[in-house]
Amino acid sequence: MEHGVFGRAELARLGMTEAQVRRAVRSGDLVRLRSGWYARPDADPTVVAAVRAGGVLSCVSALRRHGVWIAPGYETVHTRASKSLRGSVPRRCRAPGPPLPTSAAVDPVDVALRCAVLCMSEEHWIAACDSALESGLVDRADLDVVLNARGRSLLSKCDERSQSGTESICRVRLRALRFGVVVQPKIAGVGKVDLRVGKLLIECDSKTHHTSLENYQNDRRRDRSALVTGWMTMRVTYDDVLYGWDGVLDDVQTITRADRHRIRGRNRLT
Ligand SMILES: [Zn+2]
Repeated sequence: MEHGVFGRAELARLGMTEAQVRRAVRSGDLVRLRSGWYARPDADPTVVAAVRAGGVLSCVSALRRHGVWIAPGYETVHTRASKSLRGSVPRRCRAPGPPLPTSAAVDPVDVALRCAVLCMSEEHWIAACDSALESGLVDRADLDVVLNARGRSLLSKCDERSQSGTESICRVRLRALRFGVVVQPKIAGVGKVDLRVGKLLIECDSKTHHTSLENYQNDRRRDRSALVTGWMTMRVTYDDVLYGWDGVLDDVQTITRADRHRIRGRNRLT
């Protein structure tokens, strides 16, 4: 990962001798952050801040750096301090269990997820973990071995088929209310949709995926096909789910109460 911050062991692995490191510091090619840790002048300032403060970037902040989807509200820099350091860090996180080594400036995804179990809300952790699993950044079986009991329980609610954080949160909230939610079902004439509750298809439009003209047209074609074949499509946006959930839920419940979402006759899926 190109963040530009290195521990001495990492520099050695890259083939730099102690003398070369000293020369690089004198010439300004490397900046010494603290004992044993160095940065390129163009290094990621968040990673630099975490290491300078006496830790490594971890938890939510490391996950974001790895490209994992993170819900809003986690802007503070999360760090994990090495055992011997007592520096003041913006937010000091730890993984449950025995202390882990701090060998890289940014914690790997599995360690960051272990820490984040203690820092994130359940649904936000599940959404982040869905994203990490979907991107292939971490393996479910490997993660299951290292998580604590709470983490394993949350992992059992994760789904690597989820295509966006919005979809993950929508699924988790509806299931918590005992809606029968099918993830990424394939609907004849429509294709794969994000979620299905009975006859109601829920499409979670992320900020990035539905802005091109092609996607715009494709979405309208899918909605038309769905309607013609007897489905109801509800499109919810990132803002709807994150900031207007009560309205979304009201609408889902209205359809449910009216029993309009239940599948009868030929539309029943197998
Ligand atoms: Zn944290």
